[in-house]
Amino acid sequence: MAAPDNVTEWSDWCVGCGDFGVLRSEEVAIKELGLDYSKMIVVSGIGCSGKAPHFFTEPISGVHTLHGRAIAFATGIKLANPDLKVMVEAGDGDTFGIGVGHFVSAGRRNVDMTVLVHDNGVYGLTKGQASPTLPRGEKTKSLPKPNINDAINPIVLALASGYTFVARAFAYDVRQAADLIKAAINHKGLAFIDVLQPCPSYNDINTNEWYRQRVYNMGIDPEVKSDADVLPKMEQALEKAKETEKMPTGIFYKNELVPTYGERLKDGIPNYFEMYPAKQNVGKDGKSITKIDNLLDKLTI
Ligand code: SF4
Repeated sequence: MAAPDNVTEWSDWCVGCGDFGVLRSEEVAIKELGLDYSKMIVVSGIGCSGKAPHFFTEPISGVHTLHGRAIAFATGIKLANPDLKVMVEAGDGDTFGIGVGHFVSAGRRNVDMTVLVHDNGVYGLTKGQASPTLPRGEKTKSLPKPNINDAINPIVLALASGYTFVARAFAYDVRQAADLIKAAINHKGLAFIDVLQPCPSYNDINTNEWYRQRVYNMGIDPEVKSDADVLPKMEQALEKAKETEKMPTGIFYKNELVPTYGERLKDGIPNYFEMYPAKQNVGKDGKSITKIDNLLDKLTI
């Protein structure tokens, strides 16, 4: 079937996949915020979710990068051009498996961008192996035996790593997910949203109905307004993150008092926000102004 005129790429996600809900939520959020598409970029990793930048109906730039490296790639883009709104879009296997080092390191830096994880407990693109968020003992239909690894808790990991906005959404509550994405984009600092979503093709346990019976909007006040709030708000967030019978959604923690990475750079480079790297000349007459001949001579054996 041919794609409609306003769609350049036809989605090949399976029927009922939560990816559709995440993409719709993003489009609603971006539209409602009235963002300038030319100042936005979506960076994805590898996996079913990695295809998302291809499927936006609006002309938003996207980069489909390497497995586990979307956060590193996005960090470079944001630091080179802090005027851009940068959104990372990656799967749970991608982010908490091969990419977990980048996930933790990003928390230490508090780069002003949004990390959105499509969390379905499996590596869907490669036929449903257990991802780091699938609980021990679960046997989805694509596993020959129950999973013998313990699951990580993405909310706890984000809190421990220093993320200054930590939230959970459900892919098929598009209204709430869109509101959380709007709040994450507007947040000053590094925002993380763990989006629970079904993978009907390979995860027959965490289905749409299974999530609907468990998710609820927790509606707590997550915001740190002074240094004295940090510990109690963190404890409150951890308490909610430990719930397993029911699954709270909404914002667990929010702290805009922590300087962003850009602000930290500005301490050493006072004109960083005016003359950031993307505005600087990197070449003359199409040639690099960096002289690496001496270095290459030294490296030659
Ligand atoms: Fe979605 Fe799972 Fe199909 Fe991938 S395999 S498109 S995650 S339903």
